[in-house]
Amino acid sequence: MLTDKIPRAKSGKEEYWRSDKLVTMPLPPARTLRLEAERLEQALLADDRKLVESVCNSFSALVADSFAVPAPPVKVLGVRPLKVYEKFGDYDFETTLIRLWMRTARLKKVTAYGTFLSTLCHELCHHLDVVHLELPHTYHTRGFYERAALLYHHARNTPVRKIVWTELDDGTFEVNWAETMKHGAKK
Ligand SMILES: [Zn+2]
Repeated sequence: MLTDKIPRAKSGKEEYWRSDKLVTMPLPPARTLRLEAERLEQALLADDRKLVESVCNSFSALVADSFAVPAPPVKVLGVRPLKVYEKFGDYDFETTLIRLWMRTARLKKVTAYGTFLSTLCHELCHHLDVVHLELPHTYHTRGFYERAALLYHHARNTPVRKIVWTELDDGTFEVNWAETMKHGAKK
């Protein structure tokens, strides 16, 4: 995980660092969200695309509700095209549509539950940035990744880890996985 390049323009910079510092967010009620997360796991196991899509839309509605914003529609597609490299989903700024791919490009296997759910949370955080947090460029900052992780662990009921970042020469940050795993869970 790598943060985006720091924008040159003043307004872009301001937005970027505001997003970077914003490391928390309100979370939907745990019980209902976790039920949807469990249903998602079952639907993926059953390899049922229609059901996966319907659960994703319920999940999206719960998250949007906790911010009192319109829910982004979620479309679940089959095999990820090869040219969509290293990516399991995307978010359309105009239509607010989230697209998720259920199968990996090469082996055409169903995407692992953890990867799939974390992609859904990631794309939902883009939506919240744009429609609610006044972060229209929704940059990938440390704060963005922290918020997405918070939502993901909340949904899975797994402990949130303190993410340890390493600063690179150009001022961007990369996750230091070794240190992050060593520091273990915080509550
Ligand atoms: Zn993204």
